[in-house]
Amino acid sequence: MPELPEVETLVRGLQSILGARIREAQTLDDRLSLPADALRDAPIEAVTRRGKYIVIRLGDRGDFVIHLRMSGRLRLDRSLAEIPYTRLILRLDTGQSVYFIDPRRLGTALLCPQGFSPKLGMEPLSDAFTPQSLAAITKASRAPIKQLLMDQSKIAGIGNIYASESLWRAKIDPRRRANSLSAEEAAAVHEGIVGVLADAISQLGTTLGNGISDYRRSAEAGGSFQNHLAVYGRENEPCERCATPVLRILQGGRSTYLCPSCQKTETYRVRRTTDGVERDNPRASSIERASLVRCGRKAGSPVPAAWPSDCIPPRGWEKTGHSLRK
Ligand SMILES: [Zn+2]
Repeated sequence: MPELPEVETLVRGLQSILGARIREAQTLDDRLSLPADALRDAPIEAVTRRGKYIVIRLGDRGDFVIHLRMSGRLRLDRSLAEIPYTRLILRLDTGQSVYFIDPRRLGTALLCPQGFSPKLGMEPLSDAFTPQSLAAITKASRAPIKQLLMDQSKIAGIGNIYASESLWRAKIDPRRRANSLSAEEAAAVHEGIVGVLADAISQLGTTLGNGISDYRRSAEAGGSFQNHLAVYGRENEPCERCATPVLRILQGGRSTYLCPSCQKTETYRVRRTTDGVERDNPRASSIERASLVRCGRKAGSPVPAAWPSDCIPPRGWEKTGHSLRK
């Protein structure tokens, strides 16, 4: 799925259509339910990005907003040849056309006559996104830090790839509760996010897979940041820092990649005592402690991604998804 760097690259590639007018909008998919007539003769005044949304400002017609979701892409082309999986064509008065191609048909295209005003969190490339503002966000959440980074209502534009990569750069375990991060650790995550996004944009984003569902730049070139990913998609390959094999776990149904050595935190370190298990680290929550006890994991080993069927919760606890609840 395209994330901030891929959408940013695409938006930069579409700056060449500024000043053009939409001669005709041709909808090829009823699911879009777009008022194509309302786009006719609309002037293209700006092409910007907000989170993972592409926002095309059409003067007093409002904002035309596209979200690519899983498999969508935009292609700027002069050719009128049929492109498979095209759902929408914006024919411009310059002779060019913008093709919205989307094999899985999950992407969205909407006209917002009153302007686009989404409920989105901070832009991680904006001046407002500082180590302090990220620390304020992490302090207010008990969610695992990776899930928080992907929460679009908190920080906009980060998805599975760049959340994993940022946390590897920051040497933070993706399962850590966000509010357990110190100010220094939040600053490291901030640096990881800003760094990885900038590096990915400089490489025109990440191109994954080899099929029709790939992200492609509008010019069809494709980014090359996939060659610089430290952990994402690199299960069992050596960590660039410490050579420990990269671990893949499931978090919220999505793959998370991490180095279990240099992203290991004290949170999961426990020691056995006569009456069971005591945590060494006061930051480890009783939930994490219980999950380790019942699954018979050794100290320092990762919490299981999902509960094994033979894992019975301690008395007074119940299994909930990937953790335990009292
Ligand atoms: Zn490592």
